[in-house]
Formats: sequence, C-alpha cells, structure tokens
Amino acid sequence: MHPERFESWLTVGTHGLYCRPGGFHIDPHSAVNRAVITHAHSDHARAGHDHVLATRETLALMKARLGSAAKLGTQALGYGETLQVGDVTLRLVPAGHVLGSAQVVIEWRGRRVVISGDYKRSADPTNPPFELVPCDLFVTEATFALPVFSHGDAKGEVAKLFKSLKQFPERAHVVGVYGLGKCQRLIALLREAGYAEPIYLHGTLAACCQIYESFGVELGALKPATGAKREELKGAIVLAPPSAIADRWSRRMPDALTAFASGWMRVRARARQRGIELPLVISDHADWRELTRTIAETGAHEVWVTHGREDALLHHIQSTGCAGRALALIGRQDEES
Ligand SMILES: [Zn+2]
Ligand SMILES: [Zn+2]
Repeated sequence: MHPERFESWLTVGTHGLYCRPGGFHIDPHSAVNRAVITHAHSDHARAGHDHVLATRETLALMKARLGSAAKLGTQALGYGETLQVGDVTLRLVPAGHVLGSAQVVIEWRGRRVVISGDYKRSADPTNPPFELVPCDLFVTEATFALPVFSHGDAKGEVAKLFKSLKQFPERAHVVGVYGLGKCQRLIALLREAGYAEPIYLHGTLAACCQIYESFGVELGALKPATGAKREELKGAIVLAPPSAIADRWSRRMPDALTAFASGWMRVRARARQRGIELPLVISDHADWRELTRTIAETGAHEVWVTHGREDALLHHIQSTGCAGRALALIGRQDEES
C-alpha cells in the first residue's frame, strides 16, 4: 500500500469499495463484516452486515426499512466527530441528500479521501446542507451526470403544484414521491410555502415521516389516504410511492391528477411513459452543474465516479487535467432519485 496510489489502499472488490488500512467497506452491495454507510437508500444500505457505522439518523432509517441496521452491532457517529478506525481517521460530514446522509472523509498518512455518497448542493429544509471538504481523491456519485440535467429551483416546481390545485380544485392531486427523502422534502417545501392543510399519505410513507419527525423535522398535519372520505380528498394533496400512482390505488381518488416529483421529470418522455400529467422536477441529487462545480471546488487531483452515468463525467474530469476513473460497481440500481 502506498498513500499516493489510492487504488492500493482503497480497493474495489466483490462487495464494493474497501478501505484496507481501516478494515471496512463503504456502502457495500453485499453483506460484509464492517460497513460504513453513507445513507439509508437501498442502493447504499444493504441488509446483513455484521457491524455498521453511520449517523444516528441513518441507523434509525435502516432499522425501519431493513428490520435491523446490523446483525452484531452498530456505532453512531455524529457529523464532524472524528474516529480512529484501524490505521485511518474517519469523519462523517453532511451530504445534503436525505436525513442522515453523510460524506465519508478518510485520512491516511497525510492523504485525504472523500466519498460523497449521494449529494446535492441546493437547499433542503429537512437536512443540513452539503459541506465541502477539500481532498486529494474525491469519489463522486453520478446519477444525473449529463449536461441535459439541470434541476432548477424546487420552489418554482411547488408553485406549479399550487397553480394546478387552484385550477382543478375538485381533483385529488396524487404526487409520486420516493419514500425516503423526496416525500419529506416535498412536505417541508409545501409547509415553507404556507400550505397548512393536512397532507394525505399512502400507507408505506408513514414510517419514514415518523423518523424525520423524531429527529425534529416538522411536517405538519399528515393523514392516511386510505380510509379518508372521498369528499375530503377533493382538491387535496396525496403523496404515494411511484409504483402506486399508476395502479388501482390512485383510481380510488376523486378524479386523480397524477404528478411525480423527481429529477427524471426533466426528461419529458419519462413523464409521458408513466402517464404523468404534472411532472415536477425536484431532485435530491446534484445536477450536472453542481457535480462539475463540486468536483472543482474539492481541489482533488483524482476523481472516481460511481452510482450512475460515468462516461460524460469522466470525460469532463479528464478534460480538466485530473485523473478520472469509473468504478463500475456491480449490483447498483437507480431506484431512488
Ligand atoms: Zn440516495
Ligand atoms: Zn444512490
């Protein structure tokens, strides 16, 4: 192992990214002995690890979603606290993606590596903002790593939803949201904009909302959609997982108008395919401009790309004179965006 040759001490094996001098994996995609988890989305937090280290929020969300966060033991690390793990120093700093999401900062023999996990730079009332950490090697996500992706201002998208509610006051506005992150961010954005009505939830969304609230994120009045009177749901905002908006479930709503809050809604064809009347471009991931800006701001002379579209970003990185590498980790999926 040599500190300046990152691939000698940060290796990519069958379980994913492994820090040799620390003796742990980061977001491994199959069960390992020691895992450091950036956040609770399923493409990062898998079940079955013996030991898991993460933020308290991430551990709580993993427990709710997976049954347990680890088989043998968990260790919570707060943002900014440092910990000696094996021969490395480890720190978690906010990634601005979802509740508890963290970048993993590893230092070994004078070199600093930052593994971003998923991140965004735009404001989100439900979790602390992304913190920039200068580093030698930056490992970045790449979910929306094409110049066509520009997410714009989430407040403007929320305004579109209000406009539609005004225009169609009799229709239930059924908005597809990912259960962890997007759901709570959209609720918080609605509240910030002054919306005080109860917001109705598909049953699968309640658990994560409760965890957000237990960590002090106020979401206002939430009611289960199932069992609510038809009359009550006219002109109401109903949140549901993407899988439910196209099926029988949403047809029970009074004259449902279907919306979907996702960075993918920038692609019109995706919205059409899903039969979405009101696409809302709200993303919890960095867009192209945020990705390239963040990479530049870290000052890293080497950048590894993972979790998404690697080619265009790799090309961009190399054009700026940095060393770039696509990790092409197996077992990933783009479930949550
Ligand atoms: Zn994620
Ligand atoms: Zn991800």
